[in-house]
Amino acid sequence: MPTIELKKVTKRYRFERRQYEAVSQIDLTIRQGEFLFVVGSSGAGKSTLLKLIAGQVRADAGVVLLDGSDVAPLPLIPSVRIRRAVGYVAQEPRLIHRRTIYDNLYMAAQAGGLNREKDAMERIYKALSIVGMRGVERQFPGELSIGQSRRVELARALVNSPPILVLDELTANLDEDNIWDMLHVLSELNRMGTTVVMATHASMFVNIMRRRVVTLVDGRIAGDVAGGRYGEIRGRKVFCTTEK
Ligand code: ADP
Repeated sequence: MPTIELKKVTKRYRFERRQYEAVSQIDLTIRQGEFLFVVGSSGAGKSTLLKLIAGQVRADAGVVLLDGSDVAPLPLIPSVRIRRAVGYVAQEPRLIHRRTIYDNLYMAAQAGGLNREKDAMERIYKALSIVGMRGVERQFPGELSIGQSRRVELARALVNSPPILVLDELTANLDEDNIWDMLHVLSELNRMGTTVVMATHASMFVNIMRRRVVTLVDGRIAGDVAGGRYGEIRGRKVFCTTEK
């Protein structure tokens, strides 16, 4: 079963001729079946960390390994191996508006190497059922509410039955009921063995779920605790602790 390992991983960006590190020297191991929240204030490096794990961007230094192999040996193109292993939902919506929900999911199935229409169709219906969205196949993304769109994005991430889910702010802009529904689906998938790595600001849910919590501050891991909850250290509200 896939283990994710980050070894001394650094990702740099350029801004106004200056180069700076969005994440620095990250060492992190995530074992199959873990449920991990990534928290930290805006700009702390959460999205960058998730993109590195999902093979969406390449480390400038260090390496991200999935079962011992580099997740991003090629720049820009996540491999079929990674698309099958990691279901990724980006922070910004990525559904293609001119295509139906079915077509959006079908493209993801094809990108994961599923070429037979019948197999793809079964997976699409199954993924939509898991997130409670069967029946929307012929609709277009613009016809869905925000909550429905996020569920469909999760279904798209599930279409290749990946052992790992990497979810960037999946619960952002959702009301409490929708967040609960989403976390219920994710808990069930995790109970069945799927690894869940999720960046979130939904502190209330982090506190109730009590899972592993990795806290980023200025691109570095400032905390990594099992059964974590939001606390306050050095005046920053986003830090996670195991305190009651
Ligand atoms: P978070 O998800 O915690 O808000 P990000 O990973 O999005 O943090 O960003 C970390 C830092 O890297 C921020 O300063 C952000 O502005 C910068 N950054 C992220 N993506 C890019 C990019 N594509 N180009 C330039 N800077 C970026």
